[in-house]
Amino acid sequence: MEAKDVCYINQAPDEFLTGCPVCGASDSLVVHNRGALYNEPTQSMELISNMCKSCSVIYSNPRHSDSVSAVFYKEEQGKLHCNQSIDQLLLQDAKARTNIRLEFVRPYLGDVRKLLEIGGGGLNFAVTAARRHEEIQVDEIDPSFLKDDDVLPNLHLISGFMERSNLHKLRPPYDFIAAFHVLEHQNDPVKFLMFVRELLSYDGYACVEIPYPFSPFWIRKPIDGSFRTVHPLNFTRQSLRYLLKKCGLTPVVEDVSSQTMVQVIAKKGPKCNDPPSVSNSDLNRMIGYLNHWKRYSALCRVRPFTVARVYADVVWRISKGINEL
Ligand SMILES: [Zn+2]
Repeated sequence: MEAKDVCYINQAPDEFLTGCPVCGASDSLVVHNRGALYNEPTQSMELISNMCKSCSVIYSNPRHSDSVSAVFYKEEQGKLHCNQSIDQLLLQDAKARTNIRLEFVRPYLGDVRKLLEIGGGGLNFAVTAARRHEEIQVDEIDPSFLKDDDVLPNLHLISGFMERSNLHKLRPPYDFIAAFHVLEHQNDPVKFLMFVRELLSYDGYACVEIPYPFSPFWIRKPIDGSFRTVHPLNFTRQSLRYLLKKCGLTPVVEDVSSQTMVQVIAKKGPKCNDPPSVSNSDLNRMIGYLNHWKRYSALCRVRPFTVARVYADVVWRISKGINEL
């Protein structure tokens, strides 16, 4: 789908927040003012990104409301998946990324009997998991499916969003719930993860994968193309931990070895109403990194590669990377 065909993103933002969507704090700092249309990094537009000074999540404000976003995901992004029939999707081979994901979650699948994947409309993970683990019942929920359907003996499709109105179609408790690149699309991540927690069995696990903003500059797109209209949230590692703990999901393993994304597995546990806030020194390092990324992006525009790469290299070495943030 060409970005110009997507109507949703051409609408002006229709919602303004008075506090952070993760922790509720009102104190924030504007860290950037441009972002990509949908997934098209060459088409940037005004997009105000704010960093919360309390939990360090980066959030768009103003932004599109849930009702506008829902139309996009169901009717516009859904067309991406409808280009292929379910029959074709069932025949696909595992993609490299699916193999990485399955390897990451494998140690936690031992006692799993029911697994839910959220928002995997392309079906690569669900089909691969169902074929390799015939003992596991896999449910897949995605708004792009035309109907609920049993497509393999152990793979069930549920048409719809991951929300309470679809509770009658879901089949909890699930021993494992996976959401790959779904959390950054949520307007209300607390409500989303609390619902995930509710559907988990008492000792169940959740796996969350999100893009990671603090990777080396030279493997990044220019900053204008990295913030996106369809990502109302961009997580630092600390803000993701804060959110998971607040929602009663205790992180047990975290991986950023790919440099471009964070994978976390969290176990259902007690809710923590007041996880620790980010320190001032970490907050300043995060903001400093974003300022360097802006300078690097500007250098890429005027002197592609050489000068920009040297700048990135020096900055990265001085800052010793900030992958822990
Ligand atoms: Zn916050």
